[in-house]
Amino acid sequence: MDFLAAATAIAGPANVLSAPDDIAPYGVDWRGSYKGTPAAVLRPNTTQQVSDLVKCCIDHRIAVVPAGGRTGLAGAAVPLANGPESAVLSLERLNRIRTIDARDFSIVAEAGCVVQHVQQAAAEAGRLFPIQWGAQGTAQIGGMLSTNAGGIRTLRWGNARELVLGLEVVLPDGRVLDDLRRVRKDNSGYALRHLFIGGEGTLGVITAAAMRLQPALKRIETAYVAVPSPDAALSLFSRMMESGADVIAFELCANYCMEMAAKHGVGLRIPLPLESPWYVMVELSAAHESIPLREIMEGTLGSAMDAGEVLDAAIADSEAQRQMIWKIREDYPDCSRRDSPSIGTDTSVPVSAVPEFLRIAERELKARWPEGRMAAIGHAGDGNIHLSLHAPAGMADRGAWVGRAADMEPMINAIAVSLGGSFSAEHGIGQSKRHAMATHKNPVAMDIMRLVKNAIDPAGTMNPGKVLP
Ligand SMILES: Cc1cc2nc3c(=O)[nH]c(=O)nc-3n(C[C@H](O)[C@H](O)[C@H](O)COP(=O)(O)OP(=O)(O)OC[C@H]3O[C@@H](n4cnc5c(N)ncnc54)[C@H](O)[C@@H]3O)c2cc1C
Repeated sequence: MDFLAAATAIAGPANVLSAPDDIAPYGVDWRGSYKGTPAAVLRPNTTQQVSDLVKCCIDHRIAVVPAGGRTGLAGAAVPLANGPESAVLSLERLNRIRTIDARDFSIVAEAGCVVQHVQQAAAEAGRLFPIQWGAQGTAQIGGMLSTNAGGIRTLRWGNARELVLGLEVVLPDGRVLDDLRRVRKDNSGYALRHLFIGGEGTLGVITAAAMRLQPALKRIETAYVAVPSPDAALSLFSRMMESGADVIAFELCANYCMEMAAKHGVGLRIPLPLESPWYVMVELSAAHESIPLREIMEGTLGSAMDAGEVLDAAIADSEAQRQMIWKIREDYPDCSRRDSPSIGTDTSVPVSAVPEFLRIAERELKARWPEGRMAAIGHAGDGNIHLSLHAPAGMADRGAWVGRAADMEPMINAIAVSLGGSFSAEHGIGQSKRHAMATHKNPVAMDIMRLVKNAIDPAGTMNPGKVLP
């Protein structure tokens, strides 16, 4: 039996796609930077089908590229352009919430559940699934875990990794590793789940996850704040952290980013005039109604204003205003994409080094590409700044800009690493940062990663050409 017939016998004809129009969306990444043609798109809806399809791929010497919501920003869910024959294994139909237990503060969700649906299910049970970022309406649990996604609340609840209690994974040989347990304490040897979290599909296919929930937030206050500099933002961050409230988000955005949001955003209303060089979006929460959160927010902003750290501030007066602040942040990547070609980065540094990082980066970028326009936005509360260099006004040819400023990304990576940071904060390695792994990753760590890859996937079937250089 040929590959398509064998896969069809497992998943049914509607779930083995091979027509060019059907497979085309699975062959290109969100940014449109990476393209590859899958031999087929496989859409299982049970763990058993995932296992049978993985074995079927091995039997026919076809590589497996797991795909979730395909919002990843490192080209990791797309087959290589000139790589081995590959099938995209889309988890979109494996999308049931298996259990939700409010007493346990836990949820067990299949890999294809859209992150926002898991947030909603948690909210209906009176709980919080805390991770939040712009693509949550499309990204899936499997993709979120395989990239160890971060987002705006990492400073409070950590990356996706911190949410996981247990995993169910189909290994490259088709066996199922059933470690889907909800216990909080288990020191029975190596914590294998951590290999698959952030593994970008190179070690197996996550089919379900048991994850922690938090108590629902009882009070929340959100402010959009104009600050004179990243140093002032850092001082404001300390004030907020010491305020007695929980700081659950602290984002820093350059004025140029807000200009792009104002220009391209649909229905966005920027709360303050575009007159300040930098803005902060800050959110405080409290788990009890009695905590005077509004006074804490006002008092902290007031003292920061007296100290010259804050120029102006708008505190959300309604849920609609609060959501507008986060819509500006979440719609920004799309506004930036529509504005002009750019080269992006995903670096992190210690929180205290954010101002220094931005100072050096701006100086070096101006020296090398004075015609480029620097955009800096990011999760300053956890040290993760996304810095990009946009083409000069009027230049629409992405290829030409990448050709001229390709060195920008390695340069920014090197600055971050020199300050004790990382060249890959939250988007993963995929295809786009393999070169940086070769440059910056500790050689001993690289050796161990190769040993692990060879031990678990000796045939190299799982997502070839990703992560490891
Ligand atoms: C507008 C926008 C904003 C974003 N903001 C953020 C942000 O703030 N923080 C952040 O961290 N990321 C952000 N991202 C990146 C992206 O949303 C995340 O990386 C997300 O976790 C990817 O999930 P996905 O389901 O789309 O995965 P995909 O893109 O489909 O896949 C990503 C990787 O995971 C693998 N994979 C997918 N499912 C599985 C599975 N079940 N088992 C094994 N491997 C699997 C793929 O092979 C690939 O390697 C943003 C993206 C966009 C478009």
